[in-house]
Amino acid sequence: MDRIYLDYAATTPVDKLVLDAMLPYFGQDFGNPSSAHIYGQNAEGAIEKARKTISRLFNADGYDLIFTSGGSESDNLALRGAALEQRKRTGASKLLISGVEHDAVDQTANQLQQKYGFIVNKLRVDNYGLIDFQILESLLNKQTALVSVIHGNNEIGTINPIKEIAKMCHEKGILFHSDAVQAAAHLKIDLKGLDVDYLSISAHKFYGPKGIGVLFKKKFAPILTQITGGSQEAGYRAGTSNVPYIVGMARALELIHENLDLENKRLITLRDKLISGVLNSVPKCQLTGDQQNRLSNHASFVFAGLSGNDLLIALDMAGFAVSSGSACKVGNPRPSEVLLALGIAPALALGSLRVTLGRMAKESDIDQFLAILPEVVKNLRKERQGGNVS
Ligand SMILES: *Cc1c(COP(=O)(O)O)cnc(C)c1O
Repeated sequence: MDRIYLDYAATTPVDKLVLDAMLPYFGQDFGNPSSAHIYGQNAEGAIEKARKTISRLFNADGYDLIFTSGGSESDNLALRGAALEQRKRTGASKLLISGVEHDAVDQTANQLQQKYGFIVNKLRVDNYGLIDFQILESLLNKQTALVSVIHGNNEIGTINPIKEIAKMCHEKGILFHSDAVQAAAHLKIDLKGLDVDYLSISAHKFYGPKGIGVLFKKKFAPILTQITGGSQEAGYRAGTSNVPYIVGMARALELIHENLDLENKRLITLRDKLISGVLNSVPKCQLTGDQQNRLSNHASFVFAGLSGNDLLIALDMAGFAVSSGSACKVGNPRPSEVLLALGIAPALALGSLRVTLGRMAKESDIDQFLAILPEVVKNLRKERQGGNVS
């Protein structure tokens, strides 16, 4: 059976050219960049070149790049690192995060509340996942240590106006972080223009390797080191640098930027065909997230009267790899917090489906998907009505 991968928001394959760029650093150029000899110098040179490349592509003059093990670590470092250091400096002990954050932000904020005595407020979003500016403004005060709002949403595709949020925070002297792990795969991110204090990215969402990411930190923005030890990453993150992965991440970014506009155009055409095809052919189904302010590769839905996990499994058996927003807990499926934050009823939120496109996705894949989805949904609904609920 031909398999069709439509889950690029979960991860992407490593580009062949990225792998080629990485390979020498596993072999002949294996040196530790902290070593003074020629092996070390070569590795150090590769890292500094990668840092320059990434910095240029993000217009990150005035920012430190801290290499991390990925999006989750970048989010952890930003939240815990900024919150603890800022509280020490100013006494501010409140955190403000949106109601539609990735778990890497949500659970870190949760821990800061449970174990470190911070007060966490969740920012209301509208029915499409966009921040309500009036509510944001009303919650910002001297007690606020940090605000964190996701840039491009992994579950619902909504793109929030990060620049305007950063501006509003800065008018009150408050630090701002954004998780741009999804956004970095599709948007040109101009850090100087956005003026955020901290921004997280992860390579495996844009055809780089898993296990490597960056936290961009504005110079002089406070941060408490989370991994102490050697002086790598200017002392913000100890541990021997992952040279091949850092090189691969920079190469992956170069490659996606070579073709960003054209690829986005192609993806938007496919995405819109997919969205209208699903909405027109499946009854009792709605798009989740914002229609206009949306990642170019992202389509997400809820279907009444079925389980998203059952749908995912049925589609997998039919050869399509997609994802569902709800966490799979045996016997007790939980609706996604993100979908609930949009005001979607819990029962409906359980019927969620996420289809995300990327490089290998072609128009014929969308046609094939649309050809089978209505029947799959119909059968699952029938099964459920027959009492055959799983
Ligand atoms: C994938 C993802 C993460 C986690 O990144 P990892 O590199 O897998 O740790 C964080 N935030 C968002 C929005 C993501 O999509």
